[in-house]
Amino acid sequence: MDTVLSDQFECFHCRKTFGGGVYEIVHERCRLHFEERVPYVESLNLRGLECYCSRACLESRVDRVMAREKIPVTHPGPDRIANCSICRTPVDRTEVHHAYLATLSEPLDDVTWDTLQTEYLAVLCKTCGR
Ligand SMILES: [Zn+2]
Ligand SMILES: [Zn+2]
Repeated sequence: MDTVLSDQFECFHCRKTFGGGVYEIVHERCRLHFEERVPYVESLNLRGLECYCSRACLESRVDRVMAREKIPVTHPGPDRIANCSICRTPVDRTEVHHAYLATLSEPLDDVTWDTLQTEYLAVLCKTCGR
């Protein structure tokens, strides 16, 4: 995702134009780091699929968006190992893998965005992640 975003978005669900906090469904390659006291996620190739004005709008759309991507939503937790959403193979999330997430981001200033909430929708193994 670009670090410079316009400050107005159109909600993919209700079509309202909004600014400020943005709910998004994103696809990314990522890797979890547990070696720090507070685990963190290293994100690569982040791709926003849709953005929304509210959590309610995101939840209204998430099933449709994930069906379009042909990915079952399994809500994997924050653990190191999670099962692939498609084939159920355990995925070691400290290695680079594909994942789908729902996020809430807010602008800190003109160029910097802070991700306030992250919820995993699906994790994919090497074979299923493309
Ligand atoms: Zn909306
Ligand atoms: Zn798989």
